[in-house]
Amino acid sequence: KLEEDANGVDSASSRISFQNESKWDDHSSYGAKKTQQAWCRLSTGNWALGKVLSTSGSESVLSTSEGKVLKVSTESLLPANPEILNGVDDLMQLSYLHEPSVLYNLQYRYDQDIIYTKAGPVLVAINPFKKVRLYGNDFIEGYKRQKMDKPHVYAIADAAIREMKRDEVNQSIIISGESGAGKTETAKIAMQYLASLGGGSGIEYEILQTNPILEAFGNAKTARNNNSSRFGKLIEIHFGATGRISGAAIQTFLLEKSRVVQCADGERSYHIFYQLCAGAPRSLREKLNLRKAEFYKYLNQSSCRSIAGVDDSEMFFAVMEAMNVVHISKEDQDTVFAMLAAVLWLGNISFKVIDNENHITVVSDEGAQTVAKLLGCTFDSLNMALSTRKMTVRNEKIVQKLTLEQAMDTRDALAKSIYASLFEWIVEQINMSLGAGKRRTGRSISILDIYGFESFTRNSFEQFCINYANERLQQHFNRHLFKLEQEEYIEDGIDWAKVDFEDNQDCLNLFEKKPLGLLSLLDEESTFPNATDLTFATKLKQHLDSNPCFKGERGKAFTVSHYAGEVMYNTTGFLEKNRDLLHVDLIQLLASCTCNLPQIFAAKMLVQSDDYPSGPARLSGADSQKLSVTTKFKGQLFQLMQRLESTTPHFIRCIKPNSLQQPGIYGQELVLSQLKCCGVLEVVRISRSGYPTRMTHQKFARRYGFLLLESVASQDPLSVSVAILQQFNILPDMYQVGYTKLFFRTGQIGLLEDTRNRT
Ligand code: ATP
Ligand code: MG
Repeated sequence: KLEEDANGVDSASSRISFQNESKWDDHSSYGAKKTQQAWCRLSTGNWALGKVLSTSGSESVLSTSEGKVLKVSTESLLPANPEILNGVDDLMQLSYLHEPSVLYNLQYRYDQDIIYTKAGPVLVAINPFKKVRLYGNDFIEGYKRQKMDKPHVYAIADAAIREMKRDEVNQSIIISGESGAGKTETAKIAMQYLASLGGGSGIEYEILQTNPILEAFGNAKTARNNNSSRFGKLIEIHFGATGRISGAAIQTFLLEKSRVVQCADGERSYHIFYQLCAGAPRSLREKLNLRKAEFYKYLNQSSCRSIAGVDDSEMFFAVMEAMNVVHISKEDQDTVFAMLAAVLWLGNISFKVIDNENHITVVSDEGAQTVAKLLGCTFDSLNMALSTRKMTVRNEKIVQKLTLEQAMDTRDALAKSIYASLFEWIVEQINMSLGAGKRRTGRSISILDIYGFESFTRNSFEQFCINYANERLQQHFNRHLFKLEQEEYIEDGIDWAKVDFEDNQDCLNLFEKKPLGLLSLLDEESTFPNATDLTFATKLKQHLDSNPCFKGERGKAFTVSHYAGEVMYNTTGFLEKNRDLLHVDLIQLLASCTCNLPQIFAAKMLVQSDDYPSGPARLSGADSQKLSVTTKFKGQLFQLMQRLESTTPHFIRCIKPNSLQQPGIYGQELVLSQLKCCGVLEVVRISRSGYPTRMTHQKFARRYGFLLLESVASQDPLSVSVAILQQFNILPDMYQVGYTKLFFRTGQIGLLEDTRNRT
């Protein structure tokens, strides 16, 4: 009957929907014939929900909710979930778990401004790109008193505090996602909750005030995000024995230095430059000889100098106020501003060609004079440092004149170095104020806000480092959620069908193996005086071509198979960026300055220099072995992983629903690719089939034993546990008893906890 009506869409669909109702419960045996609601993939790549009108062999006829009738292959149809499951809080509750059902569930919620959804143990947060009414004191109170239980960052932060106290184990909240997905906002929301619950000492306000400072100095407008963090950040918040916040420590990773001297059109340099130009009070303007942002070359190479809805001058006052809060003295603040102005004026320095070999001298104009004044050096020493280079050739000291191009690079290197050191110095000052160096006796909760996996049409050294970091984090995620889980079941004798998961150890080996891994080879090549980006690429091909995660490309390129997909890197600039050395001339210049710069950069600046290609001329000093950027980064990452491994992790995956930074637009394909990249789909599948809650017999007996109505004759923990399970009527397939632990399906322990809390 239905087949006959296949073309008369309207009449058919009304009848079918009526028939459907009696079929809701029947989703145990799926087949296109039996399931009447199904998903099919449209030619646009999007999924559409429709009603199966008929099935004949390999072909089915489907009527979509928009009233279209489609002929599709039966095999390509996926069963839809019953309507009562629309918009469930946890993807794990879905009967059918596949791409369209997950996408649909998230979208269904997103359309109602419900941006948080659980995916088993992971919180998925979809950026609303508008104010949503989910935050503030009422909500914080709600979660604190456990009156609210919907998925939320607050709930994650609350769980972290609870578990920190209950298990006496440090906690971490690991936030990841693409640029613009909402990591930094999410981190701030979590910090607010922690500050509100652990507040009282006043230090929590200081901790929150680090955000405007770090964002001013480390964030910038990019094509993807108007407030993009150009560094990674870990903040460790310490709690004392009474549960109050006692201090914090911040660690930053890999600031993007190149942005100081250049950025793409439509993007901006770091916010603080525009804030300073717009907001500095008159006395400061005069002292620093400040102009408007468009006057400075470093800022006017991009046509973009303001951000819609942001008042830079207002922000400047907020940043100054925040610096007061974290005890950066007025004098130090003045030094900071002078250094920022020096960086801006450096960009305006001009050169005059003095011979036909393109050698130059610095023009003694306002730019150079102002730089000299701000740094506290003479024009002559500045000119010398920017136009010549001292070198040692066959044990003989010589002075080489620089060409225009070399001089411009030198000037930019100086600007980048001053800015990066300034950033590090500010973080150090903040840490001192937060008591980061103090010995701690209590516990901590760390929040990690770090750049997600990046794959552009052109990928360089920065993407190389970022994606390497993401491989490490992904392994941590995998290990935690899959490996440990599985091992624990098996160890405790639990019957659990093995689940395969993607392990990215091979890719990590490609990076880390010594001596023939990407990082070692890069470091080795970086020390060769005559090496170039091309010889580096060739070397990689020579040594790594047999590695399945590696593919050599033509010219200066190579491809890595990352867990999230293949990325082709171009080695242009790799060696230079990895070496990241300042020439000895610049170091000496900075060391001789009478501003506060030498103190600020004391330790860093006296490191060393290189003078390739004619052999290094190093400053003597104990610290002369400066590490390459990747070696330092790798060390930081190892330390980070070690720290994270000693904590109980809580994962938040931020998702960007569209690339326009606009509310109300949900791009299925964009969301799907992110869900895949961060392993959400995989997590749901695995968690659902397992027993996510577990407790040792002892702990279980101790925790809930007092709830027993009758005392158990034998007092061994296992008997007590079993008696509890029976008294509370926990169904046999909802738990398993292991050698040492009890394992529960999701949600089972809730009843016990509630009763315990009420008693
Ligand atoms: P990047 O990697 O570039 O630093 P990110 O993941 O840190 O990106 P955010 O800066 O946190 O992204 O978010 C980008 C923008 O999205 C914010 O400036 C804000 O406008 C909006 N946004 C993010 N989360 C929320 C939220 N929970 N509520 C309202 N707006 C949000
Ligand atoms: Mg950010």
